[in-house]
Amino acid sequence: MSRPWRNAALAGAVALLLGGCTSFADTVTAPTSATASPAPAPAGDDASCGERARPDPDRPRIALDFRLADDLRTVTGTQTVSFTPDLPVEELVFRLVPNGPDVSAAGSRLVVDAVRGDDVAGSGYELLGASDPGGAYVVELDEPLEAGETTEVELDFTLTLGTGEFERVGADEGVSWWASGAPLLAWEPSVGWARDPFVPVSGETTVSPAADTTVRVEAPADLTVLMTGAQAEPTAVDGEERRIWTSTEPVARDVSVAVGRFTTAEATTPGGVRVTAGALPEAEPTAGELADATVEAIADLEEFLGPFPYETLTVPQLPDYGGGIEYPSSILQASPSRQVLVHEVAHMWFYGMVGNSQFRDPWLDEAFATWAEAVVNPSSAEDLEPALGVRGDVGVAMDEVRTQQQYVAYVYGKGGATLMAAREAAGADGFDAAVRCYVDATAWAIATPDDVADALADLPEALEVLGEAGALDD
Ligand SMILES: [Zn+2]
Repeated sequence: MSRPWRNAALAGAVALLLGGCTSFADTVTAPTSATASPAPAPAGDDASCGERARPDPDRPRIALDFRLADDLRTVTGTQTVSFTPDLPVEELVFRLVPNGPDVSAAGSRLVVDAVRGDDVAGSGYELLGASDPGGAYVVELDEPLEAGETTEVELDFTLTLGTGEFERVGADEGVSWWASGAPLLAWEPSVGWARDPFVPVSGETTVSPAADTTVRVEAPADLTVLMTGAQAEPTAVDGEERRIWTSTEPVARDVSVAVGRFTTAEATTPGGVRVTAGALPEAEPTAGELADATVEAIADLEEFLGPFPYETLTVPQLPDYGGGIEYPSSILQASPSRQVLVHEVAHMWFYGMVGNSQFRDPWLDEAFATWAEAVVNPSSAEDLEPALGVRGDVGVAMDEVRTQQQYVAYVYGKGGATLMAAREAAGADGFDAAVRCYVDATAWAIATPDDVADALADLPEALEVLGEAGALDD
């Protein structure tokens, strides 16, 4: 996520460091065991990091079916989840992100209408500091599910889209969007269910596993859908009054959908990533310009982070509310800023591929995305430097910051500045190689600060900088 505050701070030109890209195909054809999690290699020795880790073959399978009503403000849906935990469980916990304080303040609301499943014994809401009817929906099983066993549940839900502003759910003239718009499976593999409270600070607080996901969206025929996953051509239904759009994404932690009067443009990276950008009527930049800028951002980031994690990326541009919000293989771009775009594309590695608890360790996605943006863009790096002097720990959890300003200053500002300082202390080549090892070792899993420390083990100068800033334990 990138908030409006950054636009003023990060004015300046993006340096276009175009360079060689590694093919996405290289990663999907690499021979490695499905559960392999390669050990981090000695820093500076990129080649010995091992292959990028593969997704868990037992990850959840999720089918999402959304229907946008003709009022363009109501979405009814059904989610089918096939879940195989790696720990015994007695319930399934779904996080209702639209009921969190920031999203619900704009009038958005998510209600579960029905739940079905052979193993379902009951269900109900938990508040978790969210608005009515609650921040979580808990489905109780009739008997405990052992690790490795599978259960399937189906949830019907109704989502109300609030007014258009800088949020993950909303509607404005000619455009509707919902991200985290369905009950989100709040499972952290090998840890358990996440029941973290919602907080007044505006930012993400979820953790969810990469899931083999399909999405179906039915919408009025005159609107275009841009969403997470590789999209197929739409098909007409209801006497051509409405169209059905589908997509597949085998490793999605969550899903974003935007529906509007988009003009679209496509561009493909040298590595074969298909980018689709969408612009609303009379918007700037145009869809073509946005697609080209996205391809450039991917190229800049692939230089030091390795192959882009997904086969596709969609970038619907919303009205200019300022900022951007990242989702797996899709970005809600709400600012005509290239810096924001680079930040959100960096999140495809940090959050999309390398997952984290955004409640417990928000710096693992936000500080690293801010750092990656600064590596690409020298003016972003200059803007960050003063943040190194901020008093406060980079490694705070979301309930340890009292204000929005603290959250931004500790996690984004000081977090990004600290990673830049660690890079300088250890040497850019060695540091970047170690980060690349961290990224590949923790791909498609939920990373922790210990994984960062392991990857930097041979760079004591970097560890010292991160320890002093309260990112890692001393
Ligand atoms: Zn961000």
